[in-house]
Amino acid sequence: MLPVAKPELGEKEKQALNAVIDSGWVAMGDHVAAFERAFARHHDTDDGVAVSSCTAGLHLSLKALGIGPGDEVLVPSLTFVATVNAVLYVGATPVFVDIESLSTPHMSITDAAHKCTSKTKAVILMHYGGYLMDAPPWTAFKEQYGISVIEDAAHAAGLDRAGTIADATVFSFFSNKNLTTAEGGMVLSRDRAVLNEIRLMRSHGMTTGTTDRHRGHALGYDVTTLGYNYRMDELRAAVGLVQLKHLTSWNTNRKELTEYYRWRLRNHCPEVLCPFDGADRPSCHHLMPVVLPKQVNRESIMVSMLHHGVQTSVHYAPVHLFSFYQRKYPFTSLPLTEEYSSRELTLPLYPSLKEPEVEHVVQALHNSLRENAHERVAI
Ligand SMILES: *Cc1c(COP(=O)(O)O)cnc(C)c1O
Repeated sequence: MLPVAKPELGEKEKQALNAVIDSGWVAMGDHVAAFERAFARHHDTDDGVAVSSCTAGLHLSLKALGIGPGDEVLVPSLTFVATVNAVLYVGATPVFVDIESLSTPHMSITDAAHKCTSKTKAVILMHYGGYLMDAPPWTAFKEQYGISVIEDAAHAAGLDRAGTIADATVFSFFSNKNLTTAEGGMVLSRDRAVLNEIRLMRSHGMTTGTTDRHRGHALGYDVTTLGYNYRMDELRAAVGLVQLKHLTSWNTNRKELTEYYRWRLRNHCPEVLCPFDGADRPSCHHLMPVVLPKQVNRESIMVSMLHHGVQTSVHYAPVHLFSFYQRKYPFTSLPLTEEYSSRELTLPLYPSLKEPEVEHVVQALHNSLRENAHERVAI
């Protein structure tokens, strides 16, 4: 069975974990600090704050930017639910914005402008599938409306220029992302004050860390703000440092596989749309999404693909249509997001996927679409 995503973990990660265990110190320490610096440098900045998850990082970023009750935050609905949940954690109101088009499923800047009010304090931009959102128009948008920008870069580890628009940019190291520490995340920001605030809140609002006290550098601590336990540990950071060395070459594999997919799809499944195809947009190719023809029953395609040994998934069910969000914000309508979500299918993509496997996936999709068309005729 070909999975949709697969973590690339091996001997080097095992050795790194053993070394941390042998060192006798597993809580946040030097490996976390080293991982923060290395990850930040990889993304063209000099400091970052490692956290327990991207979700935690989004929560802390909103807090550090002063977003709270009474404030509105523009959010995509075509995202993982955590993007929107974080807005509720700080007591602010998420305002859902539609996507630009089926071929560019990024937040629509036109719809975003339409939904700006005097209460709008921030926008969360999500680099869907690893494809970079356009920086110049969003930078102008940020200035025009005087709002904060957070980039949800969960799909964008290793993406050149991720973080150039935002006040805070948050990455995920969950097991299906381009770089994984099983669970984990990182916040990058060029604003020292924002990073310092996030660093403080990550560990209970305490002014000194356990390592400082352990080494006798500090005897006590003060608590200067409401904090959380959103720390990363040494085991995860050690794995992250190993993973980071491979990130560029893994993302190159993803790019080549995506190009191969598109070429095969053009020839064997011409009725299928490949988002972001043709545009020369920077990407770290986190996902391989396709948009199925309108009349196709996606469920039966997914079942048929499973019979061909191919796992597929959907990115994403729109957040505004989950029952929790429908109860809270009824009557939200995002026609393009809804259409994209109902027709999207995510194909397997991970660095160790082989070209013959891509051929198999495309053949399986071709066959599944044909079977589906016959079923429709039979009905
Ligand atoms: C994975 C993901 C998250 C959440 O990341 P965690 O590290 O699991 O908290 C948030 N936003 C998007 C777009 C994601 O894909």
